[in-house]
Amino acid sequence: MCGIFGCASKTGNVAPIIHAALKRLEYRGYDSVGEATVYEGRLYVKKDKGKIDDVHRLHNLDDLPGRIGIGHTRWATHGAPYQVNAHPHLDCGERIAVVHNGIIENFAELKRELEELGHRFVSKTDTEVIPHLIEENLKKGLSMIEAVREALKRLEGSYAIAIISTLEPDKILCAKRESPLIIGVSDDAMYCASDIPAFLPLTNRVVVIEDGEMVVLTSNGYEIWNIDEWRPVTRKPDVIPWTPEMAEKGGYPHFMLKEIHEQPICLRNTLRLQ
Ligand code: GLU
Repeated sequence: MCGIFGCASKTGNVAPIIHAALKRLEYRGYDSVGEATVYEGRLYVKKDKGKIDDVHRLHNLDDLPGRIGIGHTRWATHGAPYQVNAHPHLDCGERIAVVHNGIIENFAELKRELEELGHRFVSKTDTEVIPHLIEENLKKGLSMIEAVREALKRLEGSYAIAIISTLEPDKILCAKRESPLIIGVSDDAMYCASDIPAFLPLTNRVVVIEDGEMVVLTSNGYEIWNIDEWRPVTRKPDVIPWTPEMAEKGGYPHFMLKEIHEQPICLRNTLRLQ
């Protein structure tokens, strides 16, 4: 189980917030780490294989500029744990950055199709088809939100995704199918993450996203959309009474019980093929 995280803030730079949140997701296991932000019309990306502390020592994960960004801890399924395979992944024009948790099962056929259209791939991951699909949709004249929605419709498999772009620099677009995605709501920032502990020291107001939903996140709020029918979904935040320590136990009274309940998903992850 890897982790995704995103933050759109009204106040300062988000890179240190993303770094701290990824540390809180470390318990899920990972082999690589990365962050991307948008600032003054361009994307800033840092990523590498290895532990968060080691990657931070080497690259300084905290000095990416900008009030909006995404982060990832990777558990490789397609492509070995090398820097080039770490997330975020970008499109050819370097305007779109994507982090993804899950497996895109039809990536080989999508990749072939996109390569025939002239897209250049740099990694061996399944994830990299996503930014290129979005880029291809933008070429057809779709807006960023439409381009993401149409790309999602082509994906088979599982995903929790967070996307930033220079085209909509105040938005994080996220979506989910069969991988967890939670929104965190606070007065000065909005968050998305694969698990509640990622943002629990920052807010305890959470919105659980369901399969087939896409979220448009800004520093001011969130909109949820049903992807197939493209209708808005109204869902108010729940206030969770957990302390950060309780959240790490996922609501279970102790870690052993949590680990017992996580066996099916751990087993599924262990059996993932390279
Ligand atoms: N399938 C993607 C990869 O291998 C994401 C893996 C994950 O969930 O961390 O990069």
